[in-house]
Amino acid sequence: MSNKIKEKRDRNWTKLLIVDTMTITCVAIAITWLYTIEPQIAKINIDNIWFNLLYLMYPVGNLICLFVVINLYMSLKPDDPERRSLYLIALAFLVMFAANTIYSHLAVSNSYHSASLMDPLWALYLLILGLAGLDYITESEKKNDLLYKGSLMRLLPKITVALPILSVVSLFALMIFIDDRFVWICTSLSIILITVRHAIVTTQSKQLIVDLEQLNSSLETKVSDRTQELFDIAFYDQLTGLPNRRMFENSLKKSVIMTKKKNGTLALLLLDLDRFKTINDTFGHSYGDTMLKIIALRLKEAIGSICTISRQGGDEFAIILEDYIHKQEIVQIAERILSEVAKPINLSDHNIYTSCSIGISLYSNDCADQETLMRYADAAMYYSKERGKNTYQFYTSELDKSISKKLELETELGKAIENNEFCLFYQPQVNILNGAITGAEALIRWMHPVYGCISPTDFIPIAEETGMINEIGLWVLENACTQAKKLQSEGIKRIKIGVNISPKQIQHDDFVHQVGKIIRKTGVYPQLLDLEITESAAFQNESDITRKLNDLKKIGVKISIDDFGTGYSSLSYLNKLPVDTLKIAQEFVKQIQSDAKYKAIIASIIAVTQNLKLKVIAEGVEDMYEYEFLKSQGCFDMQGYMFSKPVPIEEFIMMVKNNVFAKDVQLDA
Ligand code: C2E
Ligand code: MG
Ligand code: MG
Repeated sequence: MSNKIKEKRDRNWTKLLIVDTMTITCVAIAITWLYTIEPQIAKINIDNIWFNLLYLMYPVGNLICLFVVINLYMSLKPDDPERRSLYLIALAFLVMFAANTIYSHLAVSNSYHSASLMDPLWALYLLILGLAGLDYITESEKKNDLLYKGSLMRLLPKITVALPILSVVSLFALMIFIDDRFVWICTSLSIILITVRHAIVTTQSKQLIVDLEQLNSSLETKVSDRTQELFDIAFYDQLTGLPNRRMFENSLKKSVIMTKKKNGTLALLLLDLDRFKTINDTFGHSYGDTMLKIIALRLKEAIGSICTISRQGGDEFAIILEDYIHKQEIVQIAERILSEVAKPINLSDHNIYTSCSIGISLYSNDCADQETLMRYADAAMYYSKERGKNTYQFYTSELDKSISKKLELETELGKAIENNEFCLFYQPQVNILNGAITGAEALIRWMHPVYGCISPTDFIPIAEETGMINEIGLWVLENACTQAKKLQSEGIKRIKIGVNISPKQIQHDDFVHQVGKIIRKTGVYPQLLDLEITESAAFQNESDITRKLNDLKKIGVKISIDDFGTGYSSLSYLNKLPVDTLKIAQEFVKQIQSDAKYKAIIASIIAVTQNLKLKVIAEGVEDMYEYEFLKSQGCFDMQGYMFSKPVPIEEFIMMVKNNVFAKDVQLDA
């Protein structure tokens, strides 16, 4: 029951208490008047007036006592079990009132004699009073108490309601036998009081119904609001407000059924943000969340009116396009999405660039049920990621083959070390001022018995996903160090060997310890080992990575940041890391000729390395144009096909021994 209704009920209850007390008192006054006061007044003797008046005080005092008792009795709330012993006290006093009244009546009519029939009433009064004391015992004891097992105590509160009516009925009965004006007045008064009581109860009931109806309707509103809330939680994504996966699956199911019925068309587009994890790791999850909200908003604004969009979880969105006429419409939508997502997102004064990969499957062309539709779109999306991201891809049956190839590679990768299928190639790094080979980057190759040489770009991501990267990484490190040691023993002393370290490897708690162990085991000079870490690895979990890099520096190894410029690094943080070299990403070098913007980026990176007193090396140098530009900017260390592709160790040793690039420098000069 609501508090308001309870308050109102209590207020009405007080009114009823007053009316009931007045009714019972009225009846008691009538009886007392009839049997004790009136006969006493009739006997008043003028000579003995004070004595007679004193005699009258007895019934009056008795009435006052009764009034107090009735008040006490009536004021006990029915739902107040703690006060049940007070009922017994009230009952005891009622018995006492009856005994006193009978005694007064007998005394005034001179018919009282000791040991009369009414005498036990006083004993009864005392007995009930004693019971009240007995009743005042602890709750647990009450349960076993005989008194409580009987229904007497449970009946007492109910009698409260019937008491006023019972007393008026008894007064009526009295009126039949005795014709007395005072009794008549008291009866009339009691009837008026009973009528008032009835009116109060009726109004209270009506009010209660109104209140209950109001309570009911407010409860209904609350229930429907809560149901809506639960519905939203169950079917809508709380971050973006878009339908979630569950809702989407229902919609897709319905769309497929409808399309089947009307023989229509349906396309499913699965969209996954590229490099979202890097953004999340670099800038933190709240940035990632804000970014997802912005992307969701852009998608809604760009295509929301023609398609159903949902967030599948993480950085994945799904779109249903119904009733398209030409495939070209889907292409237009996919392109619109790519260009919307590619627009820069400004977060705390950082312009963040992202892109997405889209996979598309078509109903009836590719398949006829929603599960397969989802699976195919997923395969196509995966493929567009493989194709270099920021693109879309329709599902074709060839994709299935490439996916099953990936699964096959995944199972075989685990056995590749055991089967001795890995080998390292070395790509020379050249100082163009004197043509000397200053180092080499060790690059892993997988010599597969069926597919031949597999590129690390194909299997390193699988190794990272499955956790095999730690084992493979240690294999690379140990083999590269062994080779470096061999070079030292062949008299080739100043060649630095670069080893690529996956972000997953460096996250490993034991990483620094493992590097130290391999250096000790192989006996390589630590200063000739150059660990290449990616920007994303360098800029996540700041304190952990700084500690690990400092520990590595204590061992004596060199640290390079690979593919510098492709991540989201902040230059101020770069200053805090113990880094020796920045490797300019080949993505930038490759575009020097076609896009002047990249010239500016490369020039800035070189300027930064000069200011921070770091070494700089350009990767992926393929032609004279790139070479000349880099040289003009002050980058004198280069690596790329222009000098050599990655080669087996024997070939690399020959190159060093023959000092092959010195001739080119002389020609150049
Ligand atoms: P990366 O560390 O940036 O290595 C340079 C990649 O660019 C190598 O590809 C190299 O062959 C290629 N490259 C060098 N010069 C040129 C050029 O002039 N033109 C072009 N088009 N490409 C050039 P690769 O060997 O296929 O390796 C690809 C990536 O795989 C590496 O990029 C590196 O991130 C990763 N990787 C290679 N070996 C390992 C390894 O042992 N461990 C780990 N964790 N990753 C590795
Ligand atoms: Mg590298
Ligand atoms: Mg690189």
